[in-house]
Parts: sequence; C-alpha cells; structure tokens
Amino acid sequence: MTTANAYPTSQTIRTIGILGGGQLGMMLAQAALPLGYRCVFLEDSPNCPASLYGKVYSSQQLEDFVAAADVFTLEFENTPVKTVEWLKALSDQGDKQGMNPPPQALEVAQDRLKEKSLFNELGIKTVPFVSVSSKAELQSACEQLGLPLVLKTSRGGYDGKGQFVLRDKADIASAWSELGDAVTGKGNLAPIPAPLIAEGFIHFNREVSIIAARSQDGSIRTYDLVENHHHQGILAKTQAPAVGTSHLLTMAQSAIETLMTHLDYVGVIALELFVSKDSEGRDTLLANEIAPRVHNSGHWSIEGAVTSQFENHIRAVVGLPLGDTDNVHPSIMVNVLGQYPNVAEVLAIDGAHYHTYHKEEREERKIGHITLMPNDVANLDEALERLVAILPNKVGLDK
Ligand code: AMP
Repeated sequence: MTTANAYPTSQTIRTIGILGGGQLGMMLAQAALPLGYRCVFLEDSPNCPASLYGKVYSSQQLEDFVAAADVFTLEFENTPVKTVEWLKALSDQGDKQGMNPPPQALEVAQDRLKEKSLFNELGIKTVPFVSVSSKAELQSACEQLGLPLVLKTSRGGYDGKGQFVLRDKADIASAWSELGDAVTGKGNLAPIPAPLIAEGFIHFNREVSIIAARSQDGSIRTYDLVENHHHQGILAKTQAPAVGTSHLLTMAQSAIETLMTHLDYVGVIALELFVSKDSEGRDTLLANEIAPRVHNSGHWSIEGAVTSQFENHIRAVVGLPLGDTDNVHPSIMVNVLGQYPNVAEVLAIDGAHYHTYHKEEREERKIGHITLMPNDVANLDEALERLVAILPNKVGLDK
C-alpha cells in the first residue's frame, strides 16, 4: 500500500492526470511508475486498458479527477480544447502544476486545414490543398488540383475514416453525399461543423514518421525516422529506423523542431510524412499530420531506443530532463489487430517482445503490438516472416 510519505518530501508532483485511458495511457503509466509517479485517467470506459494502472474517472467525475492529480497530460487527441485550456488556466494560476501539451497544439492537430496551413506558414512542405464548403467548391477543387484527389473531413477523422478518393469527375456527387454533412455538422461525421479539405493525391514512395520530445526548458530530442505501413488507414507495421532515409533525417528533424518551438510544445509529438520526389527528381518529404501525443509509430522505442517515447513524455510533463533518443537496435513493430495470437508462439521467436492492451477482440481493433528485435539484425526479416505466419490477422503485412 502506498502512503503519502512514500515519496521524497521534495517531490511535489506525485500523480499525473491523463485525459484518456486507452493503450497509450496504459503505456504512459507503465513508464511513469519506475520514475515515482502514479497516474489517474479521465475516461468513460471503466474497463479501459489504463484501468489496470490507476483510477479511472468518468467525465461526470471531472472535478474528482482534477482533485486527484498534480499535473495533467493527454493521450487522446480529440480531447476538447476547452478542457485543456481550463486545466492550463488552473496551472497558470498556481492551483495545479501543469497541462501539457498546450491547447494551441491540440487546436491545430484537430483541424486538418489549420494544420496544413500552419505547416506551409512555417515553410514545411505539404501536398497542395484547398478548403471545400460546397459541391461547387468541390467542383473547382477538382479543376484546381486535378484528379485523383482526396477529400477529407477536416475534423474528427482518424485511422483513414472520413475520407473519399475522387478518381473521376463523376465521383463528385457520391463524395459530396458521403462527406458533405460534415460541413453543416449533420450526422455524426464530424464533432463540430467545419469545411472539408481537398488534397492533391500524392503517389508517394513510402510513409514515414518522426517523433520528438520537447522539455519545459525548450530542449528537443528527436527519434529516428521510421517507415510505416498502413492497411485501410490503420497502422500495420513500423520499421525503425526507416532503411535508406538518412538523407531525409535533417529535413524531418528541422520540420518537427520548428513546429514544437512555434507551438511552445512540451511533451512528445509525432509528425507523419510522405516520401515523394521534388521537381528535380530528388527524394523529399511532405508533411501530412501531427499527433500531439505519444504515437503508435513510436511503440518500438520501448525496447528499441535508449529512452522510450512514453518515458520521455512523462519526463517532459513533470519537468525532468529528457533521455537519450538514440536507437539501440533496429526493430520492426507489428500491431496486433482484431485477434490475439498464441503468446507462446510469439515468444518462441528470438527477440520478440509482446504487449497486450487487455482489450476484447474486435475486428480490426488495435489490441496489442509486438516488437521484433533479434540480436542479429540479419535475422529481422526471418523473424517477421515467422511472426506473420502465426498471426491470426495478417492485414497490411504481406510483402
Ligand atoms: P490520414 O488520415 O491523412 O493519415 O490518411 C490516411 C492514409 O491515407 C495515409 O496514411 C495515406 O496512406 C493515405 N493518404 C492520405 N492523404 C493522402 C494524399 N493526399 N494522397 C495520397 N494518399 C493519401
């Protein structure tokens, strides 16, 4: 049983309040414990993954949640900005000891139009895009950007939901009837009425992401660029580091550092990018989106980096120095989607690390992940083949 005096008297932050209680919250709590911090969670599903690590408060119990924590962070990026602003104000007036990441980061991340506009303002390249609020504007977007194009809700979309690829002008009517309601807020496509975003369709070579942490004194540490493979918008696999991308690392680092500094960010952030070609045929990066939180494409860092993304996020939020983000060993992280594998079969693969999220099996749901880090890197592909052979759900893992 932990008592109040089990903490050093100088430690004023003891409990971290996390907005959200999914697997990201669970892994944050796993990283917080050895550093001497407990977590509590604001989450409406009482049996969420994080419930194994700390008390879960429902949104009806917001005041009790706030009373229980000294400092706040989030693991769910669609957390209402108002809640984050309120917790930040409580901290600014000295009633609490911090709310990070800051509300302005959330506001940008929750709106694709604001997000891509900010990227461009900061000199970070993106695909061409325009705002679309009517069928007529969709028509002109097709003329301006050309076809194919991707129409997306600017708010509320996740894992590829709320998107329509138009390949032909004849698709305008069906795209509009599928997504047009988001503009007026009818139906449940988007939480708040907002224009759609039309993006030029990019024939990218691959998708990569970079994760970084920024501390309260403004120092930044970045992880390696990693390569991500999605299946219908859901991450299936991450290779860390992304092979043959060292020439792009500085560009990615500079983009994420510029963003974090601009947003006065504290904590871990992820930036997803497409690897494409510039007009001279050279590899270049186009920014797609940020996630103002720890990210699925950084799960490899639990075993693969000197300090995991989860530990660095906790360090940043409580005001501790950041840890080394160097890669200790190349790895491949595979998401367990929908159905659990036989754990003994997974662990029979040398260098396999198994993480269950203690969730019920449901089609395509992220219920765990496995990081492969065989001692001899030469065995990485073979380890992956063995893993794919025993996974019940292999979507997105074919060669
Ligand atoms: P997003 O929700 O923006 O991350 O999009 C989900 C997935 O759709 C991405 O991981 C890409 O594979 C694909 N995608 C998104 N935007 C574009 C685009 N402008 N051109 C081509 N593919 C895209």
